[in-house]
Amino acid sequence: MLDIRIERTTNPKQKPQVGQPLPFGKIFTDHMFVMNYTDGKGWHDARVIPYQKIALDPSAMVFHYSQTMFEGLKAYLSEDGEPVLFRPDMNAKRANRSNERLCIPKIPEEDFVQAVKAVVQVDQDWIPKEIGTSLYIRPFIIATDEFLGVKPSKTYLFMIILSPSGVYYANGMNPVAIWIEDDYVRAVRGGIGEAKTGGNYAASLIGQVKANQEQYEQVLWLDGIERKYIEEVGSMNIFFKIDGKVMTPQLNGSILPGITRDSVITLCKEWGYEVIEKRISIDEIVEAYQSGKLEEVWGTGTAAVISPVGKLRHEDEVMVINENKIGQLSQKLYDTVTGIQSGKIEDTHGWIQRVND
Ligand SMILES: *Cc1c(COP(=O)(O)O)cnc(C)c1O
Repeated sequence: MLDIRIERTTNPKQKPQVGQPLPFGKIFTDHMFVMNYTDGKGWHDARVIPYQKIALDPSAMVFHYSQTMFEGLKAYLSEDGEPVLFRPDMNAKRANRSNERLCIPKIPEEDFVQAVKAVVQVDQDWIPKEIGTSLYIRPFIIATDEFLGVKPSKTYLFMIILSPSGVYYANGMNPVAIWIEDDYVRAVRGGIGEAKTGGNYAASLIGQVKANQEQYEQVLWLDGIERKYIEEVGSMNIFFKIDGKVMTPQLNGSILPGITRDSVITLCKEWGYEVIEKRISIDEIVEAYQSGKLEEVWGTGTAAVISPVGKLRHEDEVMVINENKIGQLSQKLYDTVTGIQSGKIEDTHGWIQRVND
């Protein structure tokens, strides 16, 4: 149990109006969670304080060698007006797996969840009320030693900031066009691909820019060695429905283990689908497409939940999936996961945690 000091703002900001557009990640709430780590002392001084800028020395290690990790989850208002979280224990576990890979000290899982709940509780009036909206939660850790040598830092900051976010699909759920990148790679096995850390995103920007220039919205990455096996989309895991079966790349060390991915696998199995986690080559997908067996493709991630894929481009092959329409299973998964989050559908898995307990 953390002993969290709470200091409320005396100068609250204007909250967004009902119906006001909430572009992702641009508006922040009145408070933030902060906790320090010092070698020998451990994590200490847990506090919820007014949202403010932080001062760091230009030599702070995070600026130079990227020793940092982040998480992403959401708080929702359930139908009875209670703020709830979706599987925050999974974020806590994954945070520690990222920490381990990056030589960042771990945070006890229950402390991580307690910290998330504490700051969301203080700012719960910031959770937007319209259906499909949420409060995006961004926990992260940065290395703060003032030193230019390469080694694990001895001091860190753990922070949690909150951003009200609007309906992801403001104009209805629309299939996305995806560019399969065969020049640049994002991650390799043994690298940091399975950790949620900024470096993976830095590596991915150039592919994203290239895809956007070609009028594609997102990038699907292939494996870093043979450039043949499917890995994942920018910030989403990827699923295929082929000849009635559900397939997704197995977690191989270079793919981020998505919590939405895990939830979708669980639901598909319960609904009687055969779910296959394996190495999937791009040739297998093109072949399934050409023989008319590629029925649906969708991405999974906290932000969009389910993102149907309407178009996949690989070299000169442009594959149009399900006539560029939302597939039945994609829609059912979207409705079910968001239904559980809003409390419309019974949570039979223990995925929902109340903030105010
Ligand atoms: C966060 C993330 C995902 C999706 O994970 P969720 O837990 O489902 O939000 C997928 N890929 C990458 C690279 C990510 O950073």
